[in-house]
Amino acid sequence: GSLLTARALHKAYGSTPALDGADFSIHPGEVVAVMGPSGSGKSTLLHCLAGIIRPDSGSVLYGSRDLTHMSDAQRSALRRSDYGFVFQFGQLVPELTCLENVALPLRLNGVKRKEAEERSLEWLERLEVGEVRAKRPGEVSGGQGQRVAVARALAARPRVIFADEPTGALDSLNGERVMTLLTEAARDTNAAVVLVTHEARVAAYSDREVVVRDGQAREMAGLA
Ligand code: ADP
Ligand code: ADP
Repeated sequence: GSLLTARALHKAYGSTPALDGADFSIHPGEVVAVMGPSGSGKSTLLHCLAGIIRPDSGSVLYGSRDLTHMSDAQRSALRRSDYGFVFQFGQLVPELTCLENVALPLRLNGVKRKEAEERSLEWLERLEVGEVRAKRPGEVSGGQGQRVAVARALAARPRVIFADEPTGALDSLNGERVMTLLTEAARDTNAAVVLVTHEARVAAYSDREVVVRDGQAREMAGLA
């Protein structure tokens, strides 16, 4: 069955419709690219699926639980335990070392410091940035910082990874490497990935493409 399903989502900001009947589903282990022009509703869809915003109507099912019927506290607990996030910019805590940044979601999930740090170092090494563990985010390159962010998103073993333009700030070589490492790690852990991107070469890492237009999400025709 589906891991995450959006049904008939509607969301408007004042009189501006952002989602207009979006239907969408994702299965465990699947990498789905969400594409579409600027302003088409991609971010709003991602934020509804992630339980960050509540749609005006429709439902978001995570397994059998409807996020739209959960309290803010329940949704934030779910995000912490089951979801991982990678964004384009600025998601690392500047005061913490890269290792501490990766360990943070584990610590918030109750993992003891020593084990959290060991697991975090393994993830940094897997993302080929073990050497930056003691540095702060301001002291590493953009590509290294984004690898640290991917390590952080994956360290707590999320069931779903939400990635919004995860390589948008990287050059193409770094972007490709980050996408390879992200999708390999997701497949190894059977996590689903919701990948928002406007770049075809990033979408090429997905199993399936969904196009959002005027607030409606549609399966791309002709793809398996
Ligand atoms: P809800 O329907 O959940 O009350 P809104 O649609 O009012 O939420 O707004 C969602 C978020 O977008 C809020 O953080 C709000 O402050 C912000 N927001 C709403 N309208 C605008 C706008 N015109 N420009 C920028 N941000 C806005
Ligand atoms: P995309 O991610 O595809 O660029 P968005 O989901 O950000 O699309 O935006 C969909 C529509 O909703 C656009 O018309 C946008 O201007 C509007 N919108 C998005 N966020 C807000 C907000 N906080 N306040 C007001 N309008 C918004």
